[in-house]
Amino acid sequence: MDFNLTQEQRMIYEYGDRISKQFDHNYWRGYAEKGEPPAELYKQITNDGFLGIMVPEAYGGAGQGMTEMLLFMEGLANNGIPLLNLVVGPTMTMGLLAKHASEDMKRRFLPGGCTGEIKFCFAITEPNAGSNSIEITSIAKPDGNGGFRLNGQKVFITDANCADYAMVVTRTTPRADVRKKTDGFTIFMVDMKKEGISKTLIPVAFPVPETQWQVFFDDVALTEADVLGEVGKGFNILFDTLNPERIILSGLCTGIGRFALKKAVAYANDRKVFNNTPIGAYQGVQHPLAMARSEVEMASLMAVKAAWAFDQGLPAGEFANMAKYAAAEAGIHAVDSAIQCFGGNGFTKEYGMYDLYGLVRLLRTAPLNREMVLNHIAEHVMGLPRSY
Ligand SMILES: Cc1cc2nc3c(=O)[nH]c(=O)nc-3n(C[C@H](O)[C@H](O)[C@H](O)COP(=O)(O)OP(=O)(O)OC[C@H]3O[C@@H](n4cnc5c(N)ncnc54)[C@H](O)[C@@H]3O)c2cc1C
Repeated sequence: MDFNLTQEQRMIYEYGDRISKQFDHNYWRGYAEKGEPPAELYKQITNDGFLGIMVPEAYGGAGQGMTEMLLFMEGLANNGIPLLNLVVGPTMTMGLLAKHASEDMKRRFLPGGCTGEIKFCFAITEPNAGSNSIEITSIAKPDGNGGFRLNGQKVFITDANCADYAMVVTRTTPRADVRKKTDGFTIFMVDMKKEGISKTLIPVAFPVPETQWQVFFDDVALTEADVLGEVGKGFNILFDTLNPERIILSGLCTGIGRFALKKAVAYANDRKVFNNTPIGAYQGVQHPLAMARSEVEMASLMAVKAAWAFDQGLPAGEFANMAKYAAAEAGIHAVDSAIQCFGGNGFTKEYGMYDLYGLVRLLRTAPLNREMVLNHIAEHVMGLPRSY
């Protein structure tokens, strides 16, 4: 067993340390407060070739895997520059295309994705189904001429406004007409400029550059060339995008946790309020920070294990769920104990701690809420009965 990173992996992990000298947390926060994409940062990341980490070199990518994508995200978040867009585009969409798309589809999307000319969003969540994706009711019905007509509604679709294409998970056969509940799902690459697509903003209550949208599909014409994988068999490949989502978001949480703790330690070593002693000398301040740091590092290890399993083609669900659970909790504890350490300053814009809380707290609820993650572990890893 070797816990050392290769030279290339270290370079990817440390990229965040380098780029944050130019685009630091305050830069990110400026865009987060405006709800706008940090364009110069994306341009730099794109020029430096990181959008295509999970894309084979033949299609313009770096030919690396989930592990490197995770390290990239974690390295950025370590420096307070977490980017949700890297989750939906380069990881969920481009990663799945690279693994399962036809040659034609790869050529159509991946080179443009790597250069940032084509941007993606990922759409599975629906208002009435929520966490229970089996019950989604959006449907692409065959039109009788080899094509499909898509109707339905998606919610909380990150960056749907800037995406050229949405990777849409929908039914092609209604739930009532399939023998197995996971049958009848199809994944489409939907051109967001098509007639019949409209969207409305869902304003969220925490600062984040990426915006969330409700997307409506009203009789949108699709062709067989828009299908990723096989018609009706979308569920079979779905977890090759949902597990990476959980893994990379683990890196976002552990990275933010480290960033918050680093800031808290600097503050705690400096701030003196009793007897000329730094507050960091009190165990009441130290222990929550030390516990959070331990949780962050444990979660980070599990995320690497999940990424490793995914890259090896091994079942990664168990580790991905555990990593996401542990990382969200660790990130929340880290930011919360950092805020406490900063006292009143934890709530000021100047110190920038509280503005991280919303993002790590989100990860307890999304992309799969803590309870469903624990349900999965209880049932599928531990063999306990299903309760819902
Ligand atoms: C900022 C943001 C960005 C997002 N981006 C995307 C995106 O890009 N694409 C996309 O498709 N979706 C996206 N989502 C959607 C997200 O994945 C869902 O919000 C999430 O899966 C939870 O679904 P829900 O909101 O319908 O909650 P519900 O399913 O209504 O669940 C509500 C709560 O009930 C509890 N619960 C539900 N079922 C159970 C159970 N069986 N056992 C125990 N407890 C249970 C949980 O505590 C859960 O938090 C995003 C959401 C947000 C907030």
